[in-house]
Amino acid sequence: MPITLDKKTPLTSLRGVGPKNAERLEKLGLCSVEDVLFHLPLRYQDRTRVMPIGCLRPGDQAVIEGAVELAQVKLGRRSSLLVHFSDGTGFVLLRFFHFTSAQKNALQPGVQLRCFGEVRNGPASLELVHPEYRRLDGQEPQAVEENLTPVYPTTEGLHQLAWREITGQALRLLQQDGLSLPELIPQPLLAAQGFPSLKEALLFMHRPPPDVPMALLDEGNVPARNRLVFEELLAHQLSLRLLRREQRGKLAPPLRGDGRLRQQLLAGLPFALTPAQQRVAAEIGADLTGEHPMLRLVQGDVGCGKTLVALIAALQAIEAGFQAALMAPTELLAEQHFRNLSAWLVPLGVDLGYLSGRAKGKARREQLARLASGECRLLVGTHALFQEDVVFQSLGLAIIDEQHRFGVHQRLALHEKGSSDGCVPHQLVMTATPIPRTLAMTAYADLDLSIIDELPPGRTPVKTVALPDSRRDEVVARVAGACRGGRQAYWVCTLIEESEALQCQAAEETATGLAAGLPGLNIGLVHGRLKPAEKEAVMARFKAGEIHLLVATTVIEVGVDVPNASLMIIENPERLGLAQLHQLRGRVGRGAVESHCLLLYHAPLSENARTRLDVMRETNDGFVVARKDLELRGPGEVLGTRQTGLARMRIADLLRDQAWIPQAQAAADRLLERYPEQAAPLVERWVGNRLDYGRV
Ligand code: ADP
Ligand code: MG
Repeated sequence: MPITLDKKTPLTSLRGVGPKNAERLEKLGLCSVEDVLFHLPLRYQDRTRVMPIGCLRPGDQAVIEGAVELAQVKLGRRSSLLVHFSDGTGFVLLRFFHFTSAQKNALQPGVQLRCFGEVRNGPASLELVHPEYRRLDGQEPQAVEENLTPVYPTTEGLHQLAWREITGQALRLLQQDGLSLPELIPQPLLAAQGFPSLKEALLFMHRPPPDVPMALLDEGNVPARNRLVFEELLAHQLSLRLLRREQRGKLAPPLRGDGRLRQQLLAGLPFALTPAQQRVAAEIGADLTGEHPMLRLVQGDVGCGKTLVALIAALQAIEAGFQAALMAPTELLAEQHFRNLSAWLVPLGVDLGYLSGRAKGKARREQLARLASGECRLLVGTHALFQEDVVFQSLGLAIIDEQHRFGVHQRLALHEKGSSDGCVPHQLVMTATPIPRTLAMTAYADLDLSIIDELPPGRTPVKTVALPDSRRDEVVARVAGACRGGRQAYWVCTLIEESEALQCQAAEETATGLAAGLPGLNIGLVHGRLKPAEKEAVMARFKAGEIHLLVATTVIEVGVDVPNASLMIIENPERLGLAQLHQLRGRVGRGAVESHCLLLYHAPLSENARTRLDVMRETNDGFVVARKDLELRGPGEVLGTRQTGLARMRIADLLRDQAWIPQAQAAADRLLERYPEQAAPLVERWVGNRLDYGRV
């Protein structure tokens, strides 16, 4: 009777997997036989037939058979062994850079070989560089492979032959029912999609039959793979639905305000809300009156006016007798929110507090006391807000700005903060990094989504140009011209080094250099190492127009708002990702005058960097930028690994497989309705303990 392995069976139970290989496999996240089966080949090679040499094309990977005509060593800076090889249909050159004289001597004219390798265009003819080869002795034809040969993603020290051996054993176990790997998708759902069984799908992917067109396999568009993609996406959908259910099952205080503060606020504004702001504010307002926690993500491009929408929500909580908290990712942004909100709220008689990580001693104690007593109604701050000693009297709403900058745990902590008697605060999450819809549906399936899809009227789009840094002098002259004409400018210094100290130093040097080149202009400097009061003083002077040119590190990336600043220089923009560039550029274009963003790059640019700068020049639309960013960097990078387990999908590729997302969603609904008991095992198989990620 065969032994039955289950998913916990360690890999070392397979022949050839000792502790060393087990460790290597673990590096790839593979800990069990089941994990190995879900580790699919990256691509395939066709070794199932011998190709006539005359039919070879560059780029083919092929098996050929023929005879050596001549083997000679070509001497040079890099000597190589060149073997002239033909089969009657054509001629090809085998080229070896590493070889021994024994090897050369064995390749006498007339020796028959079978070779496998990639065909390339050589200087004089087609070539195979370092082909695998083997002598064909005797008369009998040698067997070719029965299946396409899988090539696995691997790690150092683990060769493809070892992979084939390991997966071969796992597949044998699977075929002999020696491995319990149950079918978890109910039969009717499988049949509806015309999918093969799990067992068939795995066998196919690891050992595809020879008649499958390689092009289909390369595209990944075969029912076997689609089935696995579908199962994985389904499992992710289920996990998010379950999380959502759990969250919605909790209680939250219904926040029914009388609209008094809100009316006062709106009456005092020098402008009207945009229709998009009104719509989103209404969506939030309705959620807040519910008895279950709101979990809503507001997406909107830089400058669309998210702060005001958040403030309206906060006022609703305050009117209802609760407190609100607003958390920002940087000191600079938190300080600015505090200043702006103070200007709006003090006239309304609403007590507002500020808490940063740097607040110490008496000031901090007093702030905390005002919070605990309920005197302070809205607390603004950085992640200092969820330190243990921060206790609210009655937190009704937690707002998180620029959520992509936070990790899951930080957000969770703020959410838990106000929970008492099984009651949790409502949560509003805001981001200027728009996530394309299909991705949002998967990444944030447990959040409701609101989109602010228009900018306030009167904004002129930013004109963006890219210039090599050999033209720096011209750029400096342009800054001088703009500033003398009454405008203000930013000069952003970027540095890849992680060290904040180095970044600040570079910004200081740039500021000194620019001051020397721009006599008569006031130049300010902000970076992460300044004390909050110093930063605030510089920002206040910039806002007041006393500083003409603000030199800064990327600390000004989010939220800074000075409408008279209409020129931004970004040094070495090639070092930044698209999302970050778009955020930075959002600092200008906030007023009615035409704004410019100059990307001062250092040549030569990599292909990818050039594409990024082109995207910046061609569009101002955050959604377009986000889509390009996704194409260039992939979903894992864009969403941030800290935020989501999506980056670690085993089989599905959210970009390539996005067409399956709606189907997986529909299937998740059907499964929860008809076969609810199947949900937990599916989640366990594909998501496992990574379940926490969706808990935003
Ligand atoms: P973001 O969405 O990037 O956080 P902000 O909330 O900082 O944008 O708003 C950008 C600027 O637009 C602020 O100066 C804000 O006062 C202003 N603003 C917000 N809403 C409107 C509106 N409806 N009309 C005109 N200006 C607005
Ligand atoms: Mg903002």
